[in-house]
Amino acid sequence: MSRNTLFDKVWDLHAVRALPSGQTQLFIGLHLIHEVTSPQAFAMLRDRKLTVPYPERTVATVDHIVPTENQARPYADGLAEEMMVAIERNCREFGIRLFQPGSGKQGVVHIIAPEQGLTQPGMTVVCGDSHTATHGAFGAIAFGIGTSQVRDVLATQTLSISRLKVRRIQVDGRLRPGVYAKDVILHVLRTLTAKGGVGFAYEFAGTCIDAMSMEERMTICNMAIEGGARCGYVNPDATTFAYLKGREHAPKAHAWDAAVAWWSALASGADAEFDDVQRFTAETIEPTVTWGISPDHGIGVKEAIPARESFAKDEWQTIDEAYQYMDLKPGQAIAGVAIDVAFIGSCTNGRISDLREAARVIQAHGGKVDARVKAFIVPGSEAVKVAAEAEGLDKIFTAHGFEWRNAGCSMCLAMNPDKLQGRQISASSSNRNFKGRQGSSTGRTLLMSPAMVAIAALEGKVADVRDVLAKAAKNGG
Ligand code: SF4
Repeated sequence: MSRNTLFDKVWDLHAVRALPSGQTQLFIGLHLIHEVTSPQAFAMLRDRKLTVPYPERTVATVDHIVPTENQARPYADGLAEEMMVAIERNCREFGIRLFQPGSGKQGVVHIIAPEQGLTQPGMTVVCGDSHTATHGAFGAIAFGIGTSQVRDVLATQTLSISRLKVRRIQVDGRLRPGVYAKDVILHVLRTLTAKGGVGFAYEFAGTCIDAMSMEERMTICNMAIEGGARCGYVNPDATTFAYLKGREHAPKAHAWDAAVAWWSALASGADAEFDDVQRFTAETIEPTVTWGISPDHGIGVKEAIPARESFAKDEWQTIDEAYQYMDLKPGQAIAGVAIDVAFIGSCTNGRISDLREAARVIQAHGGKVDARVKAFIVPGSEAVKVAAEAEGLDKIFTAHGFEWRNAGCSMCLAMNPDKLQGRQISASSSNRNFKGRQGSSTGRTLLMSPAMVAIAALEGKVADVRDVLAKAAKNGG
Protein backbone atom coordinates (compact mmCIF):
# COMPACT_ATOMS: atom_id res chain seq x y z
CA MET A 1 0.00 0.00 0.00
CA SER A 2 1.30 3.44 -0.78
CA ARG A 3 -0.36 6.81 -0.49
CA ASN A 4 2.73 8.55 -1.80
CA THR A 5 3.89 9.70 1.63
CA LEU A 6 7.51 9.21 2.61
CA PHE A 7 6.29 7.13 5.52
CA ASP A 8 4.42 4.67 3.30
CA LYS A 9 7.21 4.46 0.73
CA VAL A 10 9.90 3.74 3.31
CA TRP A 11 7.63 1.31 5.12
CA ASP A 12 6.81 -0.65 1.95
CA LEU A 13 10.49 -0.80 0.94
CA HIS A 14 11.41 -2.31 4.31
CA ALA A 15 8.45 -4.67 4.71
CA VAL A 16 9.72 -8.27 4.81
CA ARG A 17 6.22 -9.76 5.05
CA ALA A 18 2.77 -9.23 6.50
CA LEU A 19 2.37 -11.21 9.72
CA PRO A 20 -0.78 -13.17 10.67
CA SER A 21 -1.25 -10.69 13.55
CA GLY A 22 -1.77 -7.90 11.02
CA GLN A 23 1.61 -6.41 11.87
CA THR A 24 4.50 -6.00 9.45
CA GLN A 25 7.88 -7.63 9.82
CA LEU A 26 10.03 -4.59 9.06
CA PHE A 27 13.71 -4.68 8.13
CA ILE A 28 15.78 -2.29 10.23
CA GLY A 29 18.59 -0.39 8.50
CA LEU A 30 20.28 1.10 11.54
CA HIS A 31 20.11 -0.09 15.13
CA LEU A 32 21.51 2.25 17.77
CA ILE A 33 22.20 0.95 21.25
CA HIS A 34 23.36 2.44 24.54
CA GLU A 35 24.36 1.16 27.95
CA VAL A 36 20.97 1.29 29.69
CA THR A 37 18.52 -0.66 27.52
CA SER A 38 20.93 -3.16 25.92
CA PRO A 39 22.39 -5.39 28.71
CA GLN A 40 19.22 -7.46 29.20
CA ALA A 41 18.83 -7.86 25.42
CA PHE A 42 22.35 -9.29 25.13
CA ALA A 43 21.67 -11.55 28.12
CA MET A 44 18.59 -12.90 26.31
CA LEU A 45 20.67 -13.53 23.18
CA ARG A 46 23.18 -15.51 25.22
CA ASP A 47 20.41 -17.52 26.92
CA ARG A 48 19.07 -18.57 23.52
CA LYS A 49 22.54 -19.02 22.02
CA LEU A 50 21.76 -16.46 19.30
CA THR A 51 24.23 -14.33 17.36
CA VAL A 52 23.97 -10.87 15.78
CA PRO A 53 23.78 -11.55 12.02
CA TYR A 54 24.34 -7.93 10.89
CA PRO A 55 26.71 -6.41 13.46
CA GLU A 56 27.70 -3.64 11.01
CA ARG A 57 24.12 -2.34 11.20
CA THR A 58 24.35 -1.77 14.95
CA VAL A 59 26.24 1.12 16.54
CA ALA A 60 26.75 1.60 20.27
CA THR A 61 27.56 4.59 22.43
CA VAL A 62 27.43 5.42 26.12
CA ASP A 63 25.49 8.47 27.20
CA HIS A 64 22.92 8.07 29.99
CA ILE A 65 25.20 7.14 32.89
CA VAL A 66 28.38 8.91 31.84
CA PRO A 67 29.54 11.50 34.41
CA THR A 68 30.00 14.96 32.90
CA GLU A 69 32.71 16.00 35.38
CA ASN A 70 35.11 13.29 36.56
CA GLN A 71 35.17 10.59 33.89
CA ALA A 72 38.03 8.58 35.43
CA ARG A 73 37.35 4.81 35.51
CA PRO A 74 36.13 2.98 37.42
CA TYR A 75 33.19 5.37 37.86
CA ALA A 76 32.33 6.31 41.44
CA ASP A 77 28.82 4.93 40.87
CA GLY A 78 29.19 1.13 40.93
CA LEU A 79 26.03 0.54 38.89
CA ALA A 80 27.21 2.93 36.17
CA GLU A 81 30.57 1.18 36.07
CA GLU A 82 28.79 -2.18 35.75
CA MET A 83 26.80 -0.88 32.77
CA MET A 84 29.98 0.38 31.11
CA VAL A 85 31.73 -2.93 31.60
CA ALA A 86 28.67 -4.77 30.25
CA ILE A 87 28.41 -2.75 27.02
CA GLU A 88 32.16 -3.02 26.44
CA ARG A 89 31.99 -6.80 26.81
CA ASN A 90 28.82 -7.17 24.74
CA CYS A 91 30.15 -5.07 21.85
CA ARG A 92 33.47 -6.94 21.90
CA GLU A 93 31.76 -10.33 21.95
CA PHE A 94 29.18 -9.59 19.24
CA GLY A 95 31.46 -7.49 16.97
CA ILE A 96 29.63 -4.16 17.38
CA ARG A 97 31.24 -0.69 17.06
CA LEU A 98 31.26 1.19 20.38
CA PHE A 99 32.03 4.89 20.78
CA GLN A 100 33.44 5.42 24.27
CA PRO A 101 34.43 8.62 26.08
CA GLY A 102 37.73 9.83 24.70
CA SER A 103 37.10 8.33 21.24
CA GLY A 104 36.05 11.72 19.88
CA LYS A 105 32.80 10.10 18.72
CA GLN A 106 30.96 9.52 22.00
CA GLY A 107 27.85 11.41 22.94
CA VAL A 108 24.09 11.19 23.15
CA VAL A 109 23.00 8.45 20.77
CA HIS A 110 20.64 10.74 18.83
CA ILE A 111 23.37 13.31 18.33
CA ILE A 112 26.29 11.12 17.30
CA ALA A 113 24.54 9.09 14.58
CA PRO A 114 23.49 12.14 12.52
CA GLU A 115 26.80 13.93 13.02
CA GLN A 116 28.71 10.93 11.69
CA GLY A 117 26.39 10.55 8.69
CA LEU A 118 25.06 7.21 9.93
CA THR A 119 21.44 8.42 9.82
CA GLN A 120 20.34 8.84 6.20
CA PRO A 121 17.08 9.46 4.33
CA GLY A 122 14.89 6.47 3.63
CA MET A 123 16.31 4.35 6.44
CA THR A 124 14.48 2.57 9.19
CA VAL A 125 16.23 3.42 12.47
CA VAL A 126 15.49 2.00 15.92
CA CYS A 127 16.98 2.42 19.38
CA GLY A 128 15.96 1.40 22.87
CA ASP A 129 15.18 5.02 23.63
CA SER A 130 11.97 7.03 23.21
CA HIS A 131 13.61 9.94 21.43
CA THR A 132 14.75 7.92 18.41
CA ALA A 133 12.21 9.98 16.47
CA THR A 134 15.01 12.58 16.22
CA HIS A 135 16.46 10.73 13.20
CA GLY A 136 13.25 11.36 11.28
CA ALA A 137 14.62 14.85 10.58
CA PHE A 138 16.56 13.17 7.74
CA GLY A 139 13.50 11.55 6.18
CA ALA A 140 14.09 8.28 8.03
CA ILE A 141 11.38 6.31 9.82
CA ALA A 142 12.78 6.13 13.32
CA PHE A 143 11.18 4.49 16.38
CA GLY A 144 11.99 3.97 20.01
CA ILE A 145 11.75 0.30 21.03
CA GLY A 146 11.66 -1.73 24.26
CA THR A 147 14.32 -4.10 25.57
CA SER A 148 12.77 -7.29 24.15
CA GLN A 149 12.56 -5.57 20.76
CA VAL A 150 16.24 -4.61 21.08
CA ARG A 151 16.86 -8.36 21.43
CA ASP A 152 14.67 -9.08 18.37
CA VAL A 153 16.49 -6.55 16.22
CA LEU A 154 19.92 -7.76 17.36
CA ALA A 155 18.95 -11.35 16.54
CA THR A 156 17.01 -10.81 13.28
CA GLN A 157 17.55 -7.19 12.13
CA THR A 158 13.75 -7.02 11.88
CA LEU A 159 10.87 -5.91 14.05
CA SER A 160 7.17 -6.79 14.20
CA ILE A 161 5.26 -3.56 14.18
CA SER A 162 1.88 -2.12 13.20
CA ARG A 163 1.61 0.38 10.39
CA LEU A 164 0.85 3.95 11.43
CA LYS A 165 -1.48 6.61 10.13
CA VAL A 166 0.22 9.78 8.89
CA ARG A 167 -0.63 13.28 10.10
CA ARG A 168 0.90 16.22 8.29
CA ILE A 169 1.85 19.06 10.60
CA GLN A 170 2.14 22.06 8.37
CA VAL A 171 3.95 25.06 9.87
CA ASP A 172 4.06 28.04 7.52
CA GLY A 173 5.60 31.47 7.91
CA ARG A 174 8.70 32.80 9.70
CA LEU A 175 9.57 32.54 13.35
CA ARG A 176 10.04 35.88 15.09
CA PRO A 177 13.41 36.65 16.75
CA GLY A 178 13.71 34.85 20.10
CA VAL A 179 11.39 32.04 18.95
CA TYR A 180 13.03 28.71 18.14
CA ALA A 181 12.34 25.18 16.92
CA LYS A 182 11.80 24.15 20.56
CA ASP A 183 8.99 26.69 20.84
CA VAL A 184 7.41 25.31 17.66
CA ILE A 185 7.27 21.77 18.97
CA LEU A 186 6.12 22.84 22.46
CA HIS A 187 3.38 24.85 20.74
CA VAL A 188 2.37 21.88 18.58
CA LEU A 189 2.24 19.64 21.67
CA ARG A 190 0.18 22.16 23.57
CA THR A 191 -2.31 22.34 20.71
CA LEU A 192 -2.57 18.65 19.78
CA THR A 193 -1.97 17.35 23.34
CA ALA A 194 0.37 14.63 24.60
CA LYS A 195 -1.94 11.85 23.46
CA GLY A 196 -3.18 13.41 20.21
CA GLY A 197 -0.61 11.62 18.05
CA VAL A 198 -1.19 8.05 19.29
CA GLY A 199 -1.27 5.75 16.25
CA PHE A 200 0.32 8.37 13.99
CA ALA A 201 3.58 9.25 12.34
CA TYR A 202 3.97 13.04 12.20
CA GLU A 203 5.20 14.52 8.93
CA PHE A 204 6.49 18.05 9.66
CA ALA A 205 6.28 20.32 6.64
CA GLY A 206 5.52 23.87 5.52
CA THR A 207 7.66 26.91 4.78
CA CYS A 208 8.79 27.31 8.40
CA ILE A 209 10.11 23.73 8.53
CA ASP A 210 11.61 24.06 5.03
CA ALA A 211 13.64 27.06 6.23
CA MET A 212 14.97 25.24 9.29
CA SER A 213 18.49 23.81 9.62
CA MET A 214 18.91 20.08 10.18
CA GLU A 215 19.61 20.75 13.85
CA GLU A 216 16.32 22.61 14.23
CA ARG A 217 14.48 19.82 12.41
CA MET A 218 16.07 17.31 14.81
CA THR A 219 14.70 19.30 17.77
CA ILE A 220 11.21 19.15 16.27
CA CYS A 221 11.27 15.43 15.41
CA ASN A 222 12.88 14.57 18.76
CA MET A 223 9.73 15.61 20.61
CA ALA A 224 7.16 14.05 18.25
CA ILE A 225 7.02 11.21 20.76
CA GLU A 226 5.88 13.68 23.46
CA GLY A 227 2.76 14.23 21.37
CA GLY A 228 2.05 10.50 21.32
CA ALA A 229 3.33 9.99 17.74
CA ARG A 230 5.48 6.91 17.29
CA CYS A 231 7.77 8.85 14.97
CA GLY A 232 8.16 12.22 13.28
CA TYR A 233 9.92 13.09 10.05
CA VAL A 234 10.75 15.81 7.57
CA ASN A 235 11.04 15.13 3.84
CA PRO A 236 14.67 15.16 2.68
CA ASP A 237 15.68 18.24 0.68
CA ALA A 238 18.73 20.33 -0.24
CA THR A 239 19.27 21.20 3.47
CA THR A 240 19.40 17.49 4.32
CA PHE A 241 21.86 16.72 1.53
CA ALA A 242 24.11 19.68 2.38
CA TYR A 243 24.26 18.51 6.02
CA LEU A 244 25.17 14.94 5.05
CA LYS A 245 27.70 15.66 2.31
CA GLY A 246 31.23 14.80 3.38
CA ARG A 247 30.24 13.18 6.69
CA GLU A 248 32.13 10.04 7.57
CA HIS A 249 29.45 7.50 6.68
CA ALA A 250 27.67 9.44 3.93
CA PRO A 251 27.94 8.01 0.41
CA LYS A 252 31.00 9.25 -1.51
CA ALA A 253 31.91 10.03 -5.15
CA HIS A 254 29.46 8.50 -7.71
CA ALA A 255 27.46 6.90 -4.94
CA TRP A 256 26.64 10.38 -3.62
CA ASP A 257 24.77 11.52 -6.74
CA ALA A 258 22.86 8.26 -6.93
CA ALA A 259 21.97 8.54 -3.25
CA VAL A 260 20.68 12.11 -3.63
CA ALA A 261 18.49 11.07 -6.57
CA TRP A 262 17.15 8.11 -4.56
CA TRP A 263 16.56 10.13 -1.41
CA SER A 264 14.75 12.86 -3.36
CA ALA A 265 12.40 10.26 -4.83
CA LEU A 266 11.36 9.15 -1.34
CA ALA A 267 9.84 12.50 -0.32
CA SER A 268 6.06 12.68 -0.05
CA GLY A 269 4.53 13.63 -3.38
CA ALA A 270 2.40 16.69 -4.03
CA ASP A 271 -0.55 14.28 -4.31
CA ALA A 272 0.25 12.45 -1.05
CA GLU A 273 -2.78 11.42 1.00
CA PHE A 274 -2.69 12.04 4.74
CA ASP A 275 -5.00 10.76 7.44
CA ASP A 276 -5.03 14.22 8.96
CA VAL A 277 -3.54 17.67 8.38
CA GLN A 278 -2.98 20.28 11.10
CA ARG A 279 -1.84 23.80 10.24
CA PHE A 280 0.15 26.30 12.29
CA THR A 281 1.34 29.86 11.65
CA ALA A 282 4.92 30.50 12.72
CA GLU A 283 4.39 34.21 13.44
CA THR A 284 1.85 33.41 16.17
CA ILE A 285 4.24 31.18 18.13
CA GLU A 286 5.71 32.69 21.31
CA PRO A 287 8.69 31.60 23.41
CA THR A 288 7.02 28.69 25.20
CA VAL A 289 7.58 27.37 28.72
CA THR A 290 6.00 24.35 30.38
CA TRP A 291 4.37 24.94 33.74
CA GLY A 292 3.12 21.40 34.54
CA ILE A 293 4.10 17.74 34.50
CA SER A 294 3.65 16.85 30.84
CA PRO A 295 5.39 18.37 27.78
CA ASP A 296 2.00 19.53 26.45
CA HIS A 297 1.57 21.77 29.52
CA GLY A 298 3.17 24.68 27.69
CA ILE A 299 2.22 28.36 27.56
CA GLY A 300 3.67 31.50 26.01
CA VAL A 301 6.13 33.20 28.37
CA LYS A 302 3.81 36.22 28.69
CA GLU A 303 0.83 34.04 29.59
CA ALA A 304 -0.59 32.97 32.93
CA ILE A 305 -0.96 29.37 34.07
CA PRO A 306 -4.27 28.18 32.63
CA ALA A 307 -7.40 27.28 34.56
CA ARG A 308 -8.30 23.60 34.51
CA GLU A 309 -11.53 24.50 32.72
CA SER A 310 -9.48 25.28 29.62
CA PHE A 311 -8.60 21.56 29.36
CA ALA A 312 -10.78 18.59 28.45
CA LYS A 313 -12.64 17.26 31.49
CA ASP A 314 -10.76 13.95 31.47
CA GLU A 315 -7.54 15.97 31.94
CA TRP A 316 -8.68 17.81 35.09
CA GLN A 317 -7.26 15.30 37.52
CA THR A 318 -3.82 15.58 35.87
CA ILE A 319 -4.07 19.36 35.78
CA ASP A 320 -4.89 19.51 39.52
CA GLU A 321 -1.98 17.16 40.17
CA ALA A 322 0.25 19.47 38.10
CA TYR A 323 -0.72 22.60 40.09
CA GLN A 324 -0.02 20.76 43.31
CA TYR A 325 3.24 19.12 42.27
CA MET A 326 4.66 22.27 40.70
CA ASP A 327 3.27 24.50 43.48
CA LEU A 328 1.98 26.89 40.83
CA LYS A 329 -1.51 28.31 40.68
CA PRO A 330 -3.90 28.99 37.81
CA GLY A 331 -3.79 32.67 36.90
CA GLN A 332 -0.19 33.03 38.06
CA ALA A 333 2.26 34.43 35.47
CA ILE A 334 4.94 31.96 34.39
CA ALA A 335 7.41 34.84 33.87
CA GLY A 336 9.04 35.57 37.20
CA VAL A 337 8.89 32.00 38.57
CA ALA A 338 12.23 31.57 40.40
CA ILE A 339 14.54 28.75 39.34
CA ASP A 340 17.33 26.93 41.19
CA VAL A 341 19.06 25.07 38.35
CA ALA A 342 19.57 25.78 34.65
CA PHE A 343 20.45 22.91 32.31
CA ILE A 344 21.35 23.30 28.64
CA GLY A 345 21.92 20.00 26.86
CA SER A 346 20.18 16.73 25.84
CA CYS A 347 19.33 15.16 22.48
CA THR A 348 16.69 17.85 22.03
CA ASN A 349 18.95 20.88 22.43
CA GLY A 350 22.58 19.90 22.98
CA ARG A 351 23.88 20.63 19.48
CA ILE A 352 26.34 23.29 18.35
CA SER A 353 23.66 25.69 17.04
CA ASP A 354 21.89 25.49 20.44
CA LEU A 355 25.12 26.41 22.20
CA ARG A 356 25.88 29.22 19.75
CA GLU A 357 22.47 30.76 20.35
CA ALA A 358 22.81 30.39 24.12
CA ALA A 359 26.19 32.15 23.96
CA ARG A 360 24.73 34.91 21.79
CA VAL A 361 21.88 35.70 24.17
CA ILE A 362 24.18 35.46 27.20
CA GLN A 363 26.41 38.10 25.61
CA ALA A 364 23.38 40.21 24.68
CA HIS A 365 22.29 40.08 28.33
CA GLY A 366 25.79 40.76 29.61
CA GLY A 367 25.19 39.59 33.21
CA LYS A 368 26.32 36.65 35.30
CA VAL A 369 24.41 33.60 36.47
CA ASP A 370 22.19 34.58 39.41
CA ALA A 371 23.88 33.81 42.74
CA ARG A 372 21.05 31.41 43.71
CA VAL A 373 21.26 29.39 40.50
CA LYS A 374 23.49 26.48 39.51
CA ALA A 375 23.80 26.62 35.73
CA PHE A 376 25.58 24.10 33.56
CA ILE A 377 25.98 23.38 29.89
CA VAL A 378 26.48 19.84 28.61
CA PRO A 379 27.43 19.43 24.95
CA GLY A 380 25.53 16.62 23.25
CA SER A 381 28.66 14.92 21.97
CA GLU A 382 32.42 15.07 22.10
CA ALA A 383 32.36 16.53 18.58
CA VAL A 384 29.98 19.30 19.73
CA LYS A 385 32.34 20.00 22.65
CA VAL A 386 35.37 20.29 20.37
CA ALA A 387 33.47 22.56 17.96
CA ALA A 388 32.19 24.78 20.79
CA GLU A 389 35.67 25.14 22.28
CA ALA A 390 37.18 25.93 18.87
CA GLU A 391 34.68 28.81 18.63
CA GLY A 392 35.40 29.98 22.20
CA LEU A 393 31.84 29.32 23.39
CA ASP A 394 33.09 27.58 26.55
CA LYS A 395 34.97 30.77 27.50
CA ILE A 396 31.80 32.84 27.08
CA PHE A 397 29.83 30.39 29.24
CA THR A 398 32.36 30.20 32.07
CA ALA A 399 32.98 33.98 32.04
CA HIS A 400 29.25 34.45 32.71
CA GLY A 401 29.12 31.86 35.50
CA PHE A 402 27.98 28.71 33.69
CA GLU A 403 29.74 25.38 34.24
CA TRP A 404 31.06 23.70 31.08
CA ARG A 405 30.90 19.90 31.15
CA ASN A 406 31.69 16.77 29.14
CA ALA A 407 29.21 15.12 26.74
CA GLY A 408 26.28 12.97 27.85
CA CYS A 409 22.57 12.91 28.66
CA SER A 410 23.22 14.43 32.08
CA MET A 411 20.24 16.02 33.80
CA CYS A 412 17.81 15.15 31.01
CA LEU A 413 17.22 11.88 32.85
CA ALA A 414 19.74 12.26 35.68
CA MET A 415 21.08 8.70 35.55
CA ASN A 416 24.54 10.19 36.17
CA PRO A 417 25.61 12.41 39.12
CA ASP A 418 23.83 15.52 37.70
CA LYS A 419 20.58 15.57 39.70
CA LEU A 420 18.10 18.05 41.13
CA GLN A 421 17.96 18.12 44.93
CA GLY A 422 14.63 18.04 46.79
CA ARG A 423 12.06 20.52 45.47
CA GLN A 424 14.48 22.43 43.24
CA ILE A 425 13.07 23.88 40.03
CA SER A 426 15.09 23.65 36.86
CA ALA A 427 14.86 25.58 33.64
CA SER A 428 15.78 22.86 31.19
CA SER A 429 16.35 22.54 27.45
CA SER A 430 15.49 18.80 27.63
CA ASN A 431 12.27 17.09 26.56
CA ARG A 432 10.40 15.73 29.56
CA ASN A 433 9.01 17.46 32.64
CA PHE A 434 7.54 14.33 34.22
CA LYS A 435 7.50 14.10 38.00
CA GLY A 436 10.96 13.14 39.26
CA ARG A 437 12.48 13.17 35.75
CA GLN A 438 15.60 15.10 36.71
CA GLY A 439 16.85 13.00 39.60
CA SER A 440 14.80 14.13 42.59
CA SER A 441 11.44 12.47 43.24
CA THR A 442 10.04 15.90 44.12
CA GLY A 443 12.11 18.01 41.70
CA ARG A 444 10.38 20.27 39.20
CA THR A 445 11.18 20.95 35.55
CA LEU A 446 10.27 23.85 33.29
CA LEU A 447 10.99 23.01 29.64
CA MET A 448 12.05 25.80 27.29
CA SER A 449 14.51 26.66 24.51
CA PRO A 450 18.25 26.83 25.31
CA ALA A 451 18.19 30.61 24.81
CA MET A 452 15.36 30.89 27.36
CA VAL A 453 17.24 28.64 29.80
CA ALA A 454 20.30 30.87 29.47
CA ILE A 455 18.27 33.98 30.27
CA ALA A 456 16.50 32.26 33.18
CA ALA A 457 19.94 31.38 34.61
CA LEU A 458 21.10 35.00 34.40
CA GLU A 459 17.85 36.44 35.77
CA GLY A 460 17.27 33.73 38.38
CA LYS A 461 13.72 33.37 37.11
CA VAL A 462 11.71 32.69 33.97
CA ALA A 463 12.07 35.69 31.66
CA ASP A 464 11.41 36.55 28.02
CA VAL A 465 14.49 36.25 25.80
CA ARG A 466 12.85 38.69 23.37
CA ASP A 467 13.11 41.48 25.95
CA VAL A 468 16.85 40.85 26.26
CA LEU A 469 17.35 40.80 22.50
CA ALA A 470 15.24 43.96 22.04
CA LYS A 471 17.20 45.81 24.74
CA ALA A 472 20.52 44.75 23.24
CA ALA A 473 19.36 45.87 19.77
CA LYS A 474 18.32 49.26 21.18
CA ASN A 475 21.75 49.66 22.78
CA GLY A 476 23.42 48.73 19.50
CA GLY A 477 24.39 45.25 20.78
S1 SF4 B 1 19.32 13.13 26.30
FE1 SF4 B 1 17.51 12.47 27.46
S2 SF4 B 1 15.97 11.87 25.99
FE2 SF4 B 1 17.93 12.02 24.92
S3 SF4 B 1 18.73 9.95 24.90
FE3 SF4 B 1 19.56 10.95 26.70
S4 SF4 B 1 18.12 10.55 28.39
FE4 SF4 B 1 17.09 9.99 26.45
